[in-house]
Amino acid sequence: MLIPLTQAQEHVLGRVGALPSVAVPVGGALGLVLAEDVVATEAVPPFAGSAMDGYAVVAADVAGASAEAPVRLPVVAEVAAGHPAPRPLVPGEAMRIFTGAPMPDGADAVVMVERTERLDDGATVAIAHPARSGDHVRGAGDDVRVGDVVFRSGDVLSPGHLGVLATLGITAVAVHRRPRVGVLSTGDELVRGGGALRPGQIRESNGRALLALLAEDGFEPVDLGVAPDDDAAITAALGGAVASCDAVLTSGGVSMGDLDLVKVVLDRLGDMRWMQIAIRPAKPFAFGVLPGGTPVFGLPGNPVSSMVSYELLARPALRRMAGHPEARWHRAPVAATTGEPLPRRPDGKLHLVRVVGERSADGALSVRSAGGQGSHQLTGMARAHGLALLPDGDGLPEGAPVRVLLQREP
Ligand code: AMP
Ligand code: MG
Repeated sequence: MLIPLTQAQEHVLGRVGALPSVAVPVGGALGLVLAEDVVATEAVPPFAGSAMDGYAVVAADVAGASAEAPVRLPVVAEVAAGHPAPRPLVPGEAMRIFTGAPMPDGADAVVMVERTERLDDGATVAIAHPARSGDHVRGAGDDVRVGDVVFRSGDVLSPGHLGVLATLGITAVAVHRRPRVGVLSTGDELVRGGGALRPGQIRESNGRALLALLAEDGFEPVDLGVAPDDDAAITAALGGAVASCDAVLTSGGVSMGDLDLVKVVLDRLGDMRWMQIAIRPAKPFAFGVLPGGTPVFGLPGNPVSSMVSYELLARPALRRMAGHPEARWHRAPVAATTGEPLPRRPDGKLHLVRVVGERSADGALSVRSAGGQGSHQLTGMARAHGLALLPDGDGLPEGAPVRVLLQREP
C-alpha cells in the first residue's frame, strides 16, 4: 500500500533525536547548532573609543564653533588604537585621535579630521563646526553588555556568530555533535573508478553523490564502500558502521520484489519498516534502528531516487539529529511559476520534477524541466536547481504557480 510522504517523514522523524551536546573549539563550529544559550561575560566594545580619525574634545568647548568663528585648541597628545592617552584631557584642550583608540578621560566627543584645520605644525587645531557630546564615540557595551544573552540554544553558528564569539573571548561552545553518517552502496553489479566494465557491470555513483550531499549539508560523511549482494559482506559493513557512525545510509536493495540481501540483513539486525511512498521518483524506502540505536535509512538504488529520497527523508532526520529546531527540519518550498508546461499523468503520487530555475530582474523564480526525468537519468538531477512539487493530476500549463524545493540558487 502506498503511504503519503508526510506519513513516512513523520515515522522517521519520530524515531530520531538530537545528538548530545559537546564542547567544540569555535574554529571548528561553523554550521553547528548551539546546545546552550551564550551569555556575555564581557562588554563589546570593552571601552569607549573613537569611531573616526579626528580630535577628541570636550563638546562644550566647541559648541559655538562655526566657519566664521572657529575655536582654536592646543593639541596636547596623540591617541592611537591600542595606545591609550597618557593623561586625562582637560577643558580647553584637544587630542589627536585615530579610529579605534580609547577616548581620553575627560573628552566626550570627536570632531572628524575633515572638519578641522591643522595649525602650528600640529600644535593647534582649528575647529569650524560645533560638536555634541557623544559625537563619533562608540560607547563601551554599545553592541553587547555583560549579561546579555547574545545567542540562543538552537541557533546555527554562521560566520557572523563566530566573529561575535571571538569578540567576547569565547574559545569553545556547547553544540550538538555534527552527525557522522555512513554511506554503504550495495549491489553485485557495482564497480568504482575507471577501468573496463565487464558485462553487466555499472559504475557506482550513489556513494559519491550521497557523500557529497552529506558534506554540503554540514554532516560528516563516512564512506563505507560498496558491498556485494552477500549476507556476510553487508553484515560486516553494517556492523562496522554501528560502531563508528551516528546514522547509516544504504542504497539499493529496497524495492518491492527485491531479492537483494540488504533486506535480509537489515531485517535480521534492525527493527525495520519497509515502505512504498506515494512519490515519484523514490517510491521504495526503508527505515529502521540498528542495535545500539543507530538509525538506518534504506534508500532506493536508482541514482536519482537515492538523491531524492535523501532530500525528503534522510536530510530532515539528520537535521533533527544535528540539533535543528523543528521549524528547520524540512527545506521550505519556495513559490515559483512554470516557464513551460510540466505535464504528468494521474497516478496517485506526488511527482518531484527536477527543474532548472531562472530569476527575473525582480527576483521572481520561473522553472523548466532539467531534462530526462527517469530515475536513472542522473544528468537531469545534476543540472537541476531543485525539485518542483507536482501534485497528482495532469500536470501544469505554462505560467502556473508551483512550489519548489530549491536546493541551489539558479
Ligand atoms: P536496486 O534497488 O538495488 O534494485 O537498484 C536499482 C537500480 O539502481 C539498479 O539499476 C542498480 O544497478 C542501480 N544502482 C543501485 N545502486 C547503485 C549505485 N550505488 N550506483 C549506481 N547505480 C546503482
Ligand atoms: Mg541492487
